[in-house]
Amino acid sequence: MADRRAVPDVDRAAASRRALERRRGRASLKRDLTTRVIAPQDVLRQATEDADSDAATMRITDFLTALPAIGAGKRDRLLEELSISPVKRLGGLGVRQRVALSEWLDQRFPRHRPRAARSRLLVLAGPTAVGKGTVAAHIRQTHPEIHLSVSATTRSPRPGEVDGVHYFFVDDAEFDRLVAEGQLLEYAVVHNKHRYGTPRGPVDAALAEGKTVLLEIDLQGARQVRAAEPSASLVFLLPPTWDELVDRLVGRGTEDAEERTRRLRTARTELAAQNEFDYLVVNGDVATAAEEVVELSSGSAR
Ligand code: 5GP
Repeated sequence: MADRRAVPDVDRAAASRRALERRRGRASLKRDLTTRVIAPQDVLRQATEDADSDAATMRITDFLTALPAIGAGKRDRLLEELSISPVKRLGGLGVRQRVALSEWLDQRFPRHRPRAARSRLLVLAGPTAVGKGTVAAHIRQTHPEIHLSVSATTRSPRPGEVDGVHYFFVDDAEFDRLVAEGQLLEYAVVHNKHRYGTPRGPVDAALAEGKTVLLEIDLQGARQVRAAEPSASLVFLLPPTWDELVDRLVGRGTEDAEERTRRLRTARTELAAQNEFDYLVVNGDVATAAEEVVELSSGSAR
């Protein structure tokens, strides 16, 4: 072996290779945190035990925003609350900071949640045009054991849509009645136009029978379900790439420039919501994405 001290160029090359591997390692760790492949408590433990690990060299800010449902605002408030400087790395926390962070993680992400306590309510949401409807339709065909919730809507049926199968088509007065009587688990105005909502009764009945229930709804609805049923699992469907989503949204260029810009802005905002979700599934191929969603519902990924 060559004496490395005598060949500084080799040192430099090795160091930059190590730095690159480090960055890759941290990026992969962040993905694992976001998709809950690894528990944040385990990452913190690694950082404490091994000062040279990818976990130890991760910035506290990156660690926190990689966690499901933690955005920049929540992260900054938390750092202030725990008296941790945002420039700290996970391995550089003081004992008190580490204990405070660990207590917060245990509270926010309970480790040993008993399976039975976790409901089988699964929410599928994602940006406009990502193909939620197609994935849900595929699940309906291939997994009849999963109860796909039928929403109420004030929009008119499209050709081929059947009342009670694709939607319950109701008028404004009927929708108002459902809201007033508390019969909707969640509801929202979608695309500034029509109202959509999830009837509570059939969802409760299917859950009581031990079935998995899938809701294919918009982001506003997903947030309401999270608030109403914290044990629900929220799945965010992602396009394979941003360009792909742009292509699907903008289509064949039939929209004018203003409409194009409006749609792209909406998609960007919607994509930013992915951090609020428990799981991310990429919709590259409909059958594969559908199977991934079903696997999440069976709990095998947890
Ligand atoms: P469409 O009119 O194309 O069938 O659906 C438009 C949008 O409404 C889709 O993004 C779909 O996810 C959403 N949507 C359908 N049903 C519900 C519902 O019950 N609640 C909410 N919040 N959104 C829904």
